Amino acid sequence: MSTPKPKSKPGQSQEWFDKPDPTGSTDTGEVGLRFTCTQCGNCCTGPTGFVLFTDVEASAIAADLKISKEEFYEKHTRDTLVGRSLKEIEVEGFGYDCVFLTRDEKTGKTGCSVYQSRPEQCRTWPFWKSNLVGKRAWREESRGCPGMNQGELHPPEHIRITRDRVEI
Ligand code: SF4
Repeated sequence: MSTPKPKSKPGQSQEWFDKPDPTGSTDTGEVGLRFTCTQCGNCCTGPTGFVLFTDVEASAIAADLKISKEEFYEKHTRDTLVGRSLKEIEVEGFGYDCVFLTRDEKTGKTGCSVYQSRPEQCRTWPFWKSNLVGKRAWREESRGCPGMNQGELHPPEHIRITRDRVEI
């Protein structure tokens, strides 16, 4: 079987995930990174963190919740050192859950009560700049996210477009 050639535009520099089998997790020589969420919820709980959003996203979430934007800011957000963030709720046995994280007690699967209007920070995980600086960063993050390196294959061009949607 021939090895697929990485696809890049003329003048575009190669990145680590342009190379065949970039994570060393397959022997197929495929190009791109695999990711499909398993709904474990790890990324939405654990140590305290932040979920940033824009004012436009705040309007969308408020509309989803059928409340005013003012009420959304008051009830569901808080100030952090890096900006206004969604609130967290401390949950015994898990840590600090995102205020919109839901848990199915029967299946153990988690969900998001504002999934349709969730911020870009959530939509673009795990293809964040910080996770894509190199293979090592990707590997480190994949320890906490069982969805990484399995499931759907995302081509390099899709990864680049997603990465450039948020500064994180
Ligand atoms: S940690 Fe990964 S697999 Fe788990 S809910 Fe988050 S994105 Fe999905």
